[in-house]
Amino acid sequence: MNTPNIVFIMSDDHACNAISCYNGMINKTPNIDRIAEEGLRLDNCLCTNSICTPSRAVILTGLHSHKNGVYTLADRFDSSKDSFVKQLKNTGYQTAMIGKWHLGHSENSLPQGFDYWSILPGQGLYHNPEFIEVDGRKTVEGYVTDIITDKAINWLDSIDTNLPFYLSVHHKAPHRPWIPDEKHKHMYDDIDIPEPENFNDDYSNRSEAARNAKMRIEQDMNALDLKVQLKEGYGPYDSFPIPENLHGYEFITNEGETVAFKTKAELKSWKYQRYIKEYLRCIASIDDNVGRLYEYLNGKGILDNTLFIYTSDQGFFLGEHGWYDKRFMYEESLKMPFVARYPKKIPVGSVCDHIITNLDFAPTFLDFAGVSIPSYMQGKSAVHLFEGFNDAIWQDSMYYRYWMHLTEHNVPAHYGIRTKRYKLIYYYGKPLGKSGCVDRETNPEWELFDLEKDPMEMNNVYFDTHYQEIVKQLKEELEKLKLEAQDFE
Ligand code: CA
Repeated sequence: MNTPNIVFIMSDDHACNAISCYNGMINKTPNIDRIAEEGLRLDNCLCTNSICTPSRAVILTGLHSHKNGVYTLADRFDSSKDSFVKQLKNTGYQTAMIGKWHLGHSENSLPQGFDYWSILPGQGLYHNPEFIEVDGRKTVEGYVTDIITDKAINWLDSIDTNLPFYLSVHHKAPHRPWIPDEKHKHMYDDIDIPEPENFNDDYSNRSEAARNAKMRIEQDMNALDLKVQLKEGYGPYDSFPIPENLHGYEFITNEGETVAFKTKAELKSWKYQRYIKEYLRCIASIDDNVGRLYEYLNGKGILDNTLFIYTSDQGFFLGEHGWYDKRFMYEESLKMPFVARYPKKIPVGSVCDHIITNLDFAPTFLDFAGVSIPSYMQGKSAVHLFEGFNDAIWQDSMYYRYWMHLTEHNVPAHYGIRTKRYKLIYYYGKPLGKSGCVDRETNPEWELFDLEKDPMEMNNVYFDTHYQEIVKQLKEELEKLKLEAQDFE
């Protein structure tokens, strides 16, 4: 049989810096690493709009946000649109979607093109989650990452494995508020996770956009994020930002421990440990479950005939720039982890550093399946790159656009271009009437980063005289990319 099965495991907000095969120094992910060791790791896999719902719509359709209609978190996907899954189903693939759909669950946003689906409503719950299925809602006892994997295995048990299948396994974890399972609850209890080198970024050589963003570990996390108890007189935890100035302030943690701080720096470091350990505990469970699915397919003798993928809908800040969250075009948010195993086509232990985006996933999967790629798709098949061939004319830049102006984390809408060496960002500062945006304009501003000299993006060199020729070239290239993407706004 030459038609591969495809297992697409996608988690939510898993940054490359928390995966050991990406030189992540803060944790171990042996099961994700094994996929890369036995297959391929993409080192320049980039998200065209770094936020949950929009990224998912791009992946399904192979179309940019402005073409698939899902610009922001407030938009819902029109499931009557074509998708690569519908294309696979039309050629005889058995198809299933299990876990976090996050594209809406009104009638016209529910999954289409899947023989079977079982999805979390909205963000879903970590413990005892409810699932929506074709015949209604059902609560399942247990931990969400385990349950999603159980459901995937149950579906695989029910199908004809002599026919090809496509399976989406979409984990809720490690999305905020980062609640681990019982098994990993005390992992990292006795150690400190190292802080990133720019943890104490003061945003002095950057845009107002960076300075004004409300995703600072120091001041923007709430009681639920930090797992501390509420005091009398505060509102509900989700509208309870802990004040910045907490010198000497005492907290009672959810574990019942009283903690007190003398300095702001001490408090910030404590918050980081609270956050990052919970995040990594959630990932430990994902990694275990990636291993479970791998072993299941191996046991059935179908692993080697399966394109087995692990990725995340975008990246995430793990204390870099003092932040959590995503949205920005900065590296930690822009970069998606992507590892894939399929020994019939993908050389063992390979690494590809060509720029590949989530727009390219749909055409690539169709190409692997031998299904022709619809001409409307804006991405390109990267199968030859997965196979280890070089491509001198492959894209050497990508177009990024974040539309969700200012909402929640105060990140202004922006677009930009990323090449292997440079990144030019334009914060145009307008909501443009898109849903889910704050209706207020911000000052337009530009940023340029030289990633070779400044990989942590600490110095905006847009105004530096040495870079004026580069700015000019990148602006031209950016206009070209915008035109190619048919983005006229
Ligand atoms: Ca996400």
